[in-house]
Amino acid sequence: MIDLAVLHGIVGEQHVLTGDAAAPYLSDWRGRYIGAALAVVRPGSTAEFAALVRLCADAGVPVVPQGGNTGLCGGATPDASGRAVLLSTQRLNRIRAIDRDNDTMDVEAGCVLQEVQQAAHEVGRLFPLSLGSEGSCTVGGNLATNAGGTQVLRYGTMRELTLGLEVVTAQGDIWHGLRGLRKDNTGYDLRDLYIGSEGTLGIITAATLKLYPLPVARCTALLALSSIEDAIRTLTLARQGFGASLTGFELMAGNCLQAVQRCFPAQQLPFDAVSAALPWFALLELSDSESEARARERFETVLGEAIEAGCVRDAVIAGSLAQSRALWHLRESIPLAERELGKCIKHDISIPVSRMAAFVRDTNQALQQAFPGVQHVIFGHLGDGNLHYNVAHGEHGSESDLLARQDAVFEVVHDRVHAVGGSISAEHGVGQLKRDALSRYKDPVELALMHRVKRALDPLGIMNPDRVLPPAAI
Ligand code: FAD
Repeated sequence: MIDLAVLHGIVGEQHVLTGDAAAPYLSDWRGRYIGAALAVVRPGSTAEFAALVRLCADAGVPVVPQGGNTGLCGGATPDASGRAVLLSTQRLNRIRAIDRDNDTMDVEAGCVLQEVQQAAHEVGRLFPLSLGSEGSCTVGGNLATNAGGTQVLRYGTMRELTLGLEVVTAQGDIWHGLRGLRKDNTGYDLRDLYIGSEGTLGIITAATLKLYPLPVARCTALLALSSIEDAIRTLTLARQGFGASLTGFELMAGNCLQAVQRCFPAQQLPFDAVSAALPWFALLELSDSESEARARERFETVLGEAIEAGCVRDAVIAGSLAQSRALWHLRESIPLAERELGKCIKHDISIPVSRMAAFVRDTNQALQQAFPGVQHVIFGHLGDGNLHYNVAHGEHGSESDLLARQDAVFEVVHDRVHAVGGSISAEHGVGQLKRDALSRYKDPVELALMHRVKRALDPLGIMNPDRVLPPAAI
């Protein structure tokens, strides 16, 4: 047990929250998990984080790190025991340095992603990570979940965008690993271990991120398609025609755009009718450092080929940056509009693109057999082989009936993902939502090694306990 007065002594009384003031931090964005904590503490510096973790380690008190609290797997919500101290990175939000010649920036973990993008833009550079939650999620949360988003095709996930880290270890030491080096082979890569560890190994307090040139031209189109097979054929043509300039290829089922239309009537859909006749849509984007004219020529050539090959039924090309933003806004509104269909059972899966169409067909069929009337809400980053394959109750009983059968729905979907060599978590992480499923699908040797890493770096087991790793078999 820790005396609140000791916490006040480290960060100041106003940054130690309890009762109603703590409540917003104790449930997740979707309202699926509600936890409790001894206190929510908002340290303002790496040194304060280190002092707090040392204190918790000495007292054997669990520590739950939290950034923007937009995670979708319940990883930032403590359990209901009320023993944990929740450490929010909200106040650790400075851009420490930007090195234009080295194309890097050092930022603190609590910086909101959009502010980091903006700071890079102000010095004529691009920080390309882009997510629907970018107005609230933080760099620390992006690192802890190895976030992906809509530009992975070209720039990679958060892991590939990061060169160095500063971390407060589970003992309360500070690892000063902020390095702007693209080559550094001096032993084990601890950076890659902490990235994606969801707060279970330590607290990331700052990072050195990679910057890129701002693209000169950007071409965006919304395509109407008859099938996922056609979407994949179009993706292949776009890869061949655009090469490294292909930035995004997002797939959306027609019912997702219908939900956006119902929820946000002010948003204009460019096609007359989103109907069963147009069951799939894709958002295609090329960005280029050559001229606007050259980019548009390449874009229209590939689209022409796709239409001629019969892959694309209809296409709308954005004529301006504003129109391009409006098309992206449709895509980014899907997670919010999805709520209108009721709380969904979410699957964040990745499988080889070549197996995607058969997977969706087989899994839709299996779900209809087991849970007749459920609604499939499917969208995601097809270019990365990553779909958000979500299931809403539709005509299948009520929302609560379906949620009560979540584990059975998971099993139908995840068994099929596993059978085609896929992953049950592409970009959202594991948290508490998929923790137990890891025992079913993860290679046992890999899982045992993960437990050993956890024991080595967090021997007291205080860092975000019972998240990510299922209980050890030995
Ligand atoms: P939190 O939710 O606060 O935390 C997430 C996990 O990271 C928790 O386990 C927490 O303990 C840990 N953590 C947080 N900060 C730290 C730290 N400094 N050190 C160590 N551990 C830490 N995700 C994608 O990948 N791609 C998408 O396209 C995408 N779209 C989304 C759209 C919407 C509308 C929403 C709501 C979410 C979306 N997400 C997406 C999920 C989510 O936004 C990301 O997982 C994001 O990276 C989480 O950041 P956060 O700061 O909110 O982290």
